[in-house]
Amino acid sequence: MIYSPPERALAALHVGRRGAGGGIVGSAVGVLRERFRIDPGYAIAVVGPGICGKCYTVSREDALRFPKEVRRFDRGRWRLDLSAFIVRDLAAHGIRRRNIFSSRLCTACAPSLFFSHRRDGGVTGRHWTLAIVRPDPRDAE
Ligand SMILES: [Zn+2]
Repeated sequence: MIYSPPERALAALHVGRRGAGGGIVGSAVGVLRERFRIDPGYAIAVVGPGICGKCYTVSREDALRFPKEVRRFDRGRWRLDLSAFIVRDLAAHGIRRRNIFSSRLCTACAPSLFFSHRRDGGVTGRHWTLAIVRPDPRDAE
C-alpha cells in the first residue's frame, strides 16, 4: 500500500516477482504523481506479509533480474527476498525509508498465520487486504 495523506491518494498493489521486476512499484508511484499530484516525500508505504528470502526459491534467470543485495544462491537454490526489493524500490522512487513499514512476515514460514501457495502446492486459501480512504469531513462543509 502506498498512501499520500495530503492528497488522500492510495494505491494498493499485489506484487510478485514478475511485477516487481517489471517495475510495478515505480509505475504506481508514477500514477500517484501524475494523477493525484503527490510528492512521494510525503507518502507512506506498507509492505504486507509475503514469502521471505529464505523460503522463496526462484529460477536463476528470475534471480538475476534482481540486484545482488536481495538474491543469493544457498543450499543449491536461488533465493529472492522480494520484500527487501520492494522496500528498496519504494525508496528509489522517492518514498522516505522512515515512511516505509515492512511487516517482514513470511507467509511460508508461518503456517498458523498465513496461507501459502508455494508451501501448500497451490491447494490453499487466499488472503485479501482492504484499504479505505474515508471522505474528508472538510469536503462536506
Ligand atoms: Zn519464510
